[in-house]
Amino acid sequence: MSRHALRGGDNRHPIPGATGTQARLEAEVLAKLGGGGQWWSHPLGIARVRPGCGSALVELDGHTTFSSGTLYPRSAHALDKLLPCAEPGVQVTGIVGLRVAGIEGADLHLTLSGDFSRIVLRGIPGTRWEELLDERWHRYEEAGFPPLWRSGSLTEYEKAHISSYGESWRAERDLDWIGSALLRRIALFHTSGSAYSTRSWITGDEWIFELDTVLDAPPGHDDFLNRLLDPIWGPALRVDRCHCSCDALRDPDDRFYLRQCTFHLTHRDQPLGGLQLRFRHGHAVYGSDARTTLRHLGSPPKWLDRVLPANRPDARASTGRRTSAQSLETESH
Ligand SMILES: [Zn+2]
Repeated sequence: MSRHALRGGDNRHPIPGATGTQARLEAEVLAKLGGGGQWWSHPLGIARVRPGCGSALVELDGHTTFSSGTLYPRSAHALDKLLPCAEPGVQVTGIVGLRVAGIEGADLHLTLSGDFSRIVLRGIPGTRWEELLDERWHRYEEAGFPPLWRSGSLTEYEKAHISSYGESWRAERDLDWIGSALLRRIALFHTSGSAYSTRSWITGDEWIFELDTVLDAPPGHDDFLNRLLDPIWGPALRVDRCHCSCDALRDPDDRFYLRQCTFHLTHRDQPLGGLQLRFRHGHAVYGSDARTTLRHLGSPPKWLDRVLPANRPDARASTGRRTSAQSLETESH
């Protein structure tokens, strides 16, 4: 949701926050969907979030592109990340306790076992959630990984997982408020800053976001942080410490140069759990074809011109993530 749209009729109305299991559900969804590593038309494959009191509506992008160039429905990709299934004796993959509460057209209602929390995943028109869920249920069963999302209560597999991974489970719960606050402000990754690639992961008690910017675009951390820390619209975050490399001298011939400005943020009042923002600035790291890939995925042209200007000097640089633009064009029309 854009800052402008959020203003609505009352420009001082804050974004409603979430607590308890609602915050946990939102944080876990962001953690699973926000890993990055693929391309979508919007950062993290989330087109928009409409935060409510006790619920959140998450509108997914239409497709995901893998490094091979293959297009895959984002709805199916999201289920692969979110749905819990057991790897007996080892762990539960997906979100422990996630349950399907219902389907209404392109909307999939998700909750946590024994709970009233609610996230609605909205697929593109025509998304057939029922088929996608059934297909996965049978596939997991046949592979010997019991699917868990239809169980009425928390399964023994899930209880065992929580008890086996107690320490990391508790550390992640200290980050729930950060994940929820960022999911509810997901538009910042699109409207603020200059990153063409966003990815995140959790390490211990810190949630790390890595935002990559090409050299021709400004690093964008001031704009991003100003919006994130807005006294009215922002969550209760403050910058604890930072290291800015924007003025560092570099060898102009070093085509592999990459500088990073790092900001560590914590809650204004409580010490537990932190957010680390890494603003990386250099030649395109994740593929010279990123602009073509994003254009074919339907990224908004104005955003694309800002984060990956056409005719930039390194536009043809050979880098890691290659995509067949031709196959994309064929499959997306
Ligand atoms: Zn900087």
